[in-house]
Amino acid sequence: MHVPWVPPCPGFAAHRARNLTQGAGASGRPLGPVRRAQGRTTSAAPVVVLGGGAAGLLAAMTAGRRGRPVILLEKNAVLGKKIRISGGGRCNFTNISENLQKAYHSSLPEGELVEEVQSDGSFFQKAFKRYPPEKFIALVESHGIKYHEKKLGQLFCNKSARQIVDMLQQECLAASVDVYTEAECLSVSAASASGSEAGRFRVVYSKEEETKELHAEAVVVACGGLSYAKTCGATDLAQRLARSFDLKVSGVRPGLVPLRLDPNAWTRSLTGVSLQVAASIGNMSFEEQILFTHQGISGPAVLQASSYWYDHDHPKALRLDLLPYMNEEDVLHWLQRRAESCRNRQSQRRMPASEELARKLPRRFADGFWIHEVSQRLHVSPSAGLEDLEISSLKDLAALLKSWEVSVIGTEGYPKAEVTCGGVSTQELSDETMECKKHPGLYFIGEAVDVTGWLGGYNFQWAWASGFAAGAVC
Ligand SMILES: Cc1cc2nc3c(=O)[nH]c(=O)nc-3n(C[C@H](O)[C@H](O)[C@H](O)COP(=O)(O)OP(=O)(O)OC[C@H]3O[C@@H](n4cnc5c(N)ncnc54)[C@H](O)[C@@H]3O)c2cc1C
Repeated sequence: MHVPWVPPCPGFAAHRARNLTQGAGASGRPLGPVRRAQGRTTSAAPVVVLGGGAAGLLAAMTAGRRGRPVILLEKNAVLGKKIRISGGGRCNFTNISENLQKAYHSSLPEGELVEEVQSDGSFFQKAFKRYPPEKFIALVESHGIKYHEKKLGQLFCNKSARQIVDMLQQECLAASVDVYTEAECLSVSAASASGSEAGRFRVVYSKEEETKELHAEAVVVACGGLSYAKTCGATDLAQRLARSFDLKVSGVRPGLVPLRLDPNAWTRSLTGVSLQVAASIGNMSFEEQILFTHQGISGPAVLQASSYWYDHDHPKALRLDLLPYMNEEDVLHWLQRRAESCRNRQSQRRMPASEELARKLPRRFADGFWIHEVSQRLHVSPSAGLEDLEISSLKDLAALLKSWEVSVIGTEGYPKAEVTCGGVSTQELSDETMECKKHPGLYFIGEAVDVTGWLGGYNFQWAWASGFAAGAVC
């Protein structure tokens, strides 16, 4: 079924004017649409959206615009907590590079993923076709939000991520969505057909220390993943609900996360050193900065690669290409030229080889790398100069500089992970609507689903697109 994208609500301007005169948006409290559930213990609602983050807000406003009565339950006192802190406070809200086609993965075993991609054009493509970045950009522009491209197609707000949250709240208000904040969903179950309330599902939630319930015709689960629980209030509700409805949940683990290195390794002394590399795990490679930290290694290149580092069962090797702008042959020629030059200078001052490496790598890194990696692996003295190396050793050195295997012992976990990889298996959901194949009326969207994007606005783009897919039909 094709449901066209609807431009921003015509009533939006009037609602915005009312909110602004009420001083909404300045306090950090939700804007106008919040309606309290006080005094009401049971009520009927055709659509209940669980979670007022990126995906839930987009789904709620889309369903509301279609005239569906929508209730959105959000555990926190404010909506969109993750949006507020995203992109360093400027929200990298989408990405317009051509990478949209390849920037996502799911946690299915590699063989299955390839098969799935080849057989139906991949799970995420349909959602992106119907809600591409241009649709969200049009929404942003219609609210007068100014933005810029930082790099690699990444779009950021000029001013503040708060503008995106305000925009989504205003759209929900204009679409008459009932938003209950500080309302934590506890469970969802299939309502008995003989019950007095209409609706397929019984939603139990807590608010102001009271347990309440709603009956819903449709439930959209948009509770996100497990990362940043302390700051943003993440819960495992999506996974618990999926399991209670007998749905497969695959490969849940931290993603876009710093990696931990052996605390006794020499790399510990590199804290604060950054360099440009290509970081590879399996056949995925990302050329950007890395940063050595107290715990291990971070920076965009490592965060990207980390989503492909499987947890304890199947950890993979992290390889760093330390000179990504040269091929191995060029590196070898460069080393040979430097060795020759050192040989000609021999009578004056002998230079340790690390000083030669420091021409292309940060000094602190070059020193440690030479002493702890090169001299040990190549069995040469730490004080040797390049001119002391045979051609075979120069070849080995070139190979090591192009592919240094770093021993990773784990990740820094959910508190530092920008996303949760894995989630409700894409095999359980319709790629048109995000509705469960086994349970009509039950939808999973956003980070709750086993779809993870690269760093750079891709995860929000998935939240918007999957939210739209569900909101357009639920
Ligand atoms: C620090 C940080 C920076 C990021 N920056 C970017 C960026 O710039 N660009 C980008 O594309 N991605 C970014 N991300 C990732 C992005 O924020 C997420 O992928 C995206 O927010 C997922 O949207 P979602 O709606 O699925 O989940 P969330 O945004 O996590 O929303 C889930 C909501 O559900 C609520 N909830 C949970 N359990 C319950 C319950 N039981 N009852 C009621 N409500 C509940 C939560 O409180 C939350 O509000 C960043 C993530 C982090 C942590």
